[in-house]
Amino acid sequence: MTDSSATVRPDRRAELAAGLAQVRARIADACAVAGRDRAEVTMIAVTKTYPASDVLALAGLGVTDVGENRDQEAAGKAAEVSAAGVSPRWHFIGQLQRNKARSVVRYADVVHSVDSVRLARALATASADRERPLDALVQVSIDGDPARGGALPGSADPGVGLEPVAEAVADSPMLRLAGLMAVAPLGWAPERAFARLAEVAEAFRLVHPGAVALSAGMSGDLEIAIQYGATHVRVGSALLGMRPTLR
Ligand SMILES: *Cc1c(COP(=O)(O)O)cnc(C)c1O
Repeated sequence: MTDSSATVRPDRRAELAAGLAQVRARIADACAVAGRDRAEVTMIAVTKTYPASDVLALAGLGVTDVGENRDQEAAGKAAEVSAAGVSPRWHFIGQLQRNKARSVVRYADVVHSVDSVRLARALATASADRERPLDALVQVSIDGDPARGGALPGSADPGVGLEPVAEAVADSPMLRLAGLMAVAPLGWAPERAFARLAEVAEAFRLVHPGAVALSAGMSGDLEIAIQYGATHVRVGSALLGMRPTLR
């Protein structure tokens, strides 16, 4: 390999293998406690702030799904990983501005953070040239604070109400409505947050029976998210180490 930034150092590989074994065990235990099939839960390795070489190392250890939250960082990383001949599923999990939609749909397989009708339309337009529709999850605001992102359950607001956003996704042939995503709000016990999310998801599936994905749970609260039905957990620091800056 000529690109030294994509070379995996053996000590880093061992570190990642240890983190991965721990997180996999936590997920398996949580599934056992919840009486759920382990195969129902996909682990997304959140590699933000970490280099493409870590993505390659994780892929070598069997990780199939990778998450990023900033287009500026993810686009180059995805290109580097692809150039190395490795193709994980890329999940875009961060707040997304409409002017980044065109870039994101070039490498992302799934966008978890669709939280407005305008963003859904921008992603649909940007996806016109894709070979396959883009999987889209509608991000839900659990505490109803629109400032922090997330569509509002039970609101008919034509811009950010959960149902109008879901319909904008479902109405586009270039998008596939895959399910819901949420982050437990700061200051909320995860039990309370994910119990509320599970209620929203149950009602949502009555209207959209195919939208079964539930993206919830991070390093600190993945067990509780699995207890409340998460199908995708987004794990960063428990796998890769503490990030130098919080974001
Ligand atoms: C960074 C991030 C994660 C991972 O957080 P950790 O606490 O490091 O596991 C999950 N979801 C989103 C939306 C993130 O931005």
